[in-house]
Amino acid sequence: MTTTPWPYPSQTDRTHRLSADVVVLGGGIAGCMAAIAAARKGQSVILVDKGAVKRSGAGGSGCDHWESAATNPCSRVTPEELTQAMLDDNDGYNNAISHYIECREGWDRLLDIEEMGGKIRDDQDEFSGAAFRDEESKLLFAYDYRNRFTLRIWGTTFKPAMLNECRRLGVTIVERVMVTSLLTEGGQCGARCIGATGLHTRTGAFYVFTGKAIVMALSRPARIWLFSSAHPGLCEFRPLSCIGDGHAMGWRAGAEFTMMEKSVRAQFSSAGRSFPPYSTGNNHNTWYAATLIDATGREIPYADRDGNLLSRVEERYLPAKGQHYFLKGGSIEQAKYEFEGPETLPYEQLNAQGYRLPFYADLSTLPELERKAIWGFMVGQEGKTQVPVYQHFTRAGFDPTRHVLQCYGVGWTSAEFLPQERQLFGLPGGFMNDWNLMTNLPGLFVCGDALFASNCYGHAAATGSYAGRKAAAYAQSASLLSADEAQVCQERARVYAPLTADPQNGVSWKELNEAIAKAMQNYCGEIKRDELLQSGVELLSRYEREVVPEAYAANPHELTRLLEVFDILTVAQLILQSCLKRRETCPKLEFYRTDAPCGAPAPFIVIRNDNGVVRTRTVPLDYAGDLRDNYEKHNADYLSELEEKRRGTKA
Ligand SMILES: Cc1cc2nc3c(=O)[nH]c(=O)nc-3n(C[C@H](O)[C@H](O)[C@H](O)COP(=O)(O)OP(=O)(O)OC[C@H]3O[C@@H](n4cnc5c(N)ncnc54)[C@H](O)[C@@H]3O)c2cc1C
Repeated sequence: MTTTPWPYPSQTDRTHRLSADVVVLGGGIAGCMAAIAAARKGQSVILVDKGAVKRSGAGGSGCDHWESAATNPCSRVTPEELTQAMLDDNDGYNNAISHYIECREGWDRLLDIEEMGGKIRDDQDEFSGAAFRDEESKLLFAYDYRNRFTLRIWGTTFKPAMLNECRRLGVTIVERVMVTSLLTEGGQCGARCIGATGLHTRTGAFYVFTGKAIVMALSRPARIWLFSSAHPGLCEFRPLSCIGDGHAMGWRAGAEFTMMEKSVRAQFSSAGRSFPPYSTGNNHNTWYAATLIDATGREIPYADRDGNLLSRVEERYLPAKGQHYFLKGGSIEQAKYEFEGPETLPYEQLNAQGYRLPFYADLSTLPELERKAIWGFMVGQEGKTQVPVYQHFTRAGFDPTRHVLQCYGVGWTSAEFLPQERQLFGLPGGFMNDWNLMTNLPGLFVCGDALFASNCYGHAAATGSYAGRKAAAYAQSASLLSADEAQVCQERARVYAPLTADPQNGVSWKELNEAIAKAMQNYCGEIKRDELLQSGVELLSRYEREVVPEAYAANPHELTRLLEVFDILTVAQLILQSCLKRRETCPKLEFYRTDAPCGAPAPFIVIRNDNGVVRTRTVPLDYAGDLRDNYEKHNADYLSELEEKRRGTKA
């Protein structure tokens, strides 16, 4: 067998040092918006991403709907009502601060993105007269057509627009560099965050970034329980490169996390199990509210939340009798605000009623504009579906007026998973934040999917921008500190060690990921108890002691993949520790103990690493206080700028 030589020059002997007022880690939706906000405040900004910013991250390839634009001119729901619904839906286990920011500022960010060149209106009048269109503003809405707080948008245009804006503002963009660790004042765990280190994924060069303020926007963990060495890029919902590096480096540096004990039975994985998310017919998110039929062509009726069958298509988009509004497309686990469509009925019930698998989405019977809104618009704009689904299927002759598409699994779920096959999905745990979106590490701000109980594009854009302006304010009165050289040297040694391991006996990134996933399925599955969790802790620490030092990488690409798996190992350990600390069963966190009963609603458990010792504290679920009051107290400057802008627009 011949091996192709590595095509890039090796620069593992080089260290690049860069400094700025604000350093943003991760150039996804949240990171780009943070960089833009900080640069607009006159700060020098560095934006670092593992990929190419134009299309990197979960939102890089597109998105078809923007949730929680509660302040758009057509909305009939207030930010307070919408945030409260998200809290109620999760019995308080949600991030009230970040979701209030999302509801309060989401529409402002859409207007920003429009100014940057993103498309948010039907200005070509393609959907004139549609029930989901506001004729005056030309905005298009999704799901709840009466209350109009979720917009259909041309998400594929957003990321390139953000990149152009970063360039226009003079942001220094560093691409194809994996951030590997956080730097702290004096190299101390738990001290002020003053920078980060990185590895070039092609040349292997080392990077040291220092800043007065640092923004964490590295998304969330994945591949903890689910791994397929045959389809590594498809075994989770989010992109291959977003696997929780940020959480791992935050844990090592002493940052606080919460809700990390929450995991859900896997829903969105496709590796060899089902079609990729949103690819083919179902009736969730992108495909809402497609007509579903069974194998015999019999239509599966829609029902409202009270179980009343809906006979007309128009009714699928309206709240039930007596219901103010409904959430669709975001909070989907154990939801109280959902339409209960056929997808929520167990297969046994449908089978008993005579429905036969497989099911199909049948767009042919939908009104023309509803069909066009799904096939072409939403399937054309959603992350991952534009090229592989819309373009390929169209080229292959798929005609939505005549053909049907087979659903994956029963209804919208991807496939049936085992209870121990879990995922951090929906509103998983993450970094703990205060009203400035700052962590417990002074100078470290956090946004987007890195936050605890985070979700969605609008949330990422709104919290990104918010964290960027708070980081800019912090940087204005903070000093730029030099990196602690001992900390830099230690990280350098850790990062490069796998290049010198024994290639004959060294373990590869795929083997290690497979082993971690199996360990987590065995010892941290759906049912928890202390002995089981302790076995997991012991096994993973053995991997750390015995396997990690032998792991081998042949080039910077393999090294990147391996460092990611080291981070997966760290996050798995953080999850086990968080599970050990929650002493009662808590259904809303999908956390079930056989050695402890269901308790009264318990507070958040906040956990951190203090030089190898795990420390916890509890925080009340309502720690955000009065949302409107606190938001306005912390954002007087933003509100007056907004007011000025509005007056300027009117004048
Ligand atoms: C298939 C799919 C469809 C979706 N559709 C919608 C939708 O229609 N509407 C909606 O509201 N939401 C949708 N979402 C969710 C939404 O895209 C995310 O919530 C949002 O992108 C989160 O933004 P973020 O900036 O936190 O993370 P991301 O956008 O994922 O950005 C994270 C960035 O960090 C970079 N990164 C990661 N690790 C490192 C590292 N170690 N060093 C350097 N860089 C690193 C990544 O390259 C990436 O650019 C969808 C998600 C997926 C996967």
